[in-house]
Amino acid sequence: MNNYHTHSYRCRHASGDIADYVEAARAAGIGELGFSEHVPYADGRWPDSRMDLGELPGYLAAVRAAAEAESRRPEGEGRMSILLGLESEWSAEDDAYLREELVGRLGVGYLVSGTHYYRRGGAWEDAGALRRAADLSAYAAHLARSLESGLFAYVAHPDLYCMSYLRWDEDARACARDVLDAARAARIPVEINGYGMRKARVRAPEGERAPYPHEGFWELAASYGLDVVVNSDAHRPVDVAAGLAEGRALAARLGLRVLDSPFER
Ligand SMILES: [Zn+2]
Ligand SMILES: [Zn+2]
Repeated sequence: MNNYHTHSYRCRHASGDIADYVEAARAAGIGELGFSEHVPYADGRWPDSRMDLGELPGYLAAVRAAAEAESRRPEGEGRMSILLGLESEWSAEDDAYLREELVGRLGVGYLVSGTHYYRRGGAWEDAGALRRAADLSAYAAHLARSLESGLFAYVAHPDLYCMSYLRWDEDARACARDVLDAARAARIPVEINGYGMRKARVRAPEGERAPYPHEGFWELAASYGLDVVVNSDAHRPVDVAAGLAEGRALAARLGLRVLDSPFER
């Protein structure tokens, strides 16, 4: 069992430091643990959900130190491999920063596409507050452009829009198809996300449900034959393996193929 979506106190809406997640992961029997803290930006945007740029070196050093400490552990004593990643939005203006600075110069091992915001016109809009059908196509188009960058290892919570767009109607399905088409074109797996299972349930016309993963979205994903990764999206050490079994059960029920690692293909 592995997990490639892990945060820390640095993003200001999570608790625990790198070592706390490592110990919780060892106790949970995780074999490979990937850290994916939210990317900080030089302009300080979205300060409630990410570290300052000045905290980035400390994050990189903490994950690298944990990876180094693991590699010195005797094999068979719960030794894990630890990966250094970041979860990121994408825009054309940020592409060089992500590609050349974070991946290139700083050696970040992988980037996760986490589209919490999308561009409409010149402005960023909150994907978690998307309510109008007209906004779904902008969200999907932005996500598709993000994946075309070729920067990302997998698509985190591709069904995040189901948190606030509550109907599973033709517009919601069209959005799902656009997102799934983009993932297929980029040849990367889509993530069944455990964090959505732990969030407050929402009242949809069809009844109360988790904000995501959305069953209808994953039924469509199964018809695409896309590969899936299941991650906890842990924001507390105790949740480092939360939702992994449930996500795999969902995938099995719908006939989705689960990869043990997004890097295995
Ligand atoms: Zn987060
Ligand atoms: Zn996340």
